[in-house]
Amino acid sequence: MFEGYLECPLCDADVPVSQEDKIGDELFCACCLASLKLKKKSDAWDRDDFYLDEDYG
Ligand SMILES: [Zn+2]
Repeated sequence: MFEGYLECPLCDADVPVSQEDKIGDELFCACCLASLKLKKKSDAWDRDDFYLDEDYG
């Protein structure tokens, strides 16, 4: 992964991402306390492809 921030899909807050985080990992938004999953749009390892999705369980 990369060190940086991804947008929370619920409240648009910046959620910190660390280099140890992997696709499918669970992250928590410190702003709205939502449980989020780290996902990727395509197979390209492009930084813009990573996003956070609501964790539906
Ligand atoms: Zn949030």
